[in-house]
Amino acid sequence: MYHGTRPGWIEVITGVMFSGKSEELIRRVRRGIIARRRVQVFKSHLDARYAGLYTVSTHDGRELEATPVDSAAEIFRQVRPDTELVAIDEAQFLDPEVVTVASALAARGVRVLLAGTDTDFRGEPFGAMGNLLAIAESVDKLQAICVICGDLATRNQRLVDGKPARYDSPTILVGGREAYEARCRHCHRVPRRDEDQTALL
Ligand code: ADP
Ligand code: ZN
Repeated sequence: MYHGTRPGWIEVITGVMFSGKSEELIRRVRRGIIARRRVQVFKSHLDARYAGLYTVSTHDGRELEATPVDSAAEIFRQVRPDTELVAIDEAQFLDPEVVTVASALAARGVRVLLAGTDTDFRGEPFGAMGNLLAIAESVDKLQAICVICGDLATRNQRLVDGKPARYDSPTILVGGREAYEARCRHCHRVPRRDEDQTALL
């Protein structure tokens, strides 16, 4: 993990769902609080996991208070002048301006910690995550466990009525009937894209 001597840098925690990104974000924020840093935590409005809109929660139930935001600009407006650590969960849902906002905060001496999944259900780059990974000083990519074969999981499998969601379904579904599983590359299924790729052979 990056530790510059001059304050102000960007750390990204990424990887598939269930890989422990929120756990790691909460761990780093708690340590920041122990170190008496002034901390603000934000998360995208779009994630209503366990209906806990105002908290960052992990899949095993650990929680931290967070301010819900709709846009990156809203984060920038809400950061107080004396804040030293800004943590942002579910960063994949934020607009591309999150890159400018994170850079501006880091430039003025804020430690910016972002967590988000780097690929969508198709296995393709999600939102501004790719650009955030590129400009960050430090990146940690975590894996979950594939629920099919037990290998390391690196893909978000979307299921609708228990069946793999098709490639052309929307990237973001809010409050839908879909479910997600962590899977490895080889157990990940995206109908239509899979068919197209086979057609190329
Ligand atoms: P993320 O923020 O990356 O979605 P969380 O921090 O919310 O991940 O949750 C991680 C926790 O999820 C793990 O510590 C574990 O208890 C639980 N979990 C549930 N399913 C899986 C899985 N398939 N692989 C790994 N951990 C899992
Ligand atoms: Zn697998």
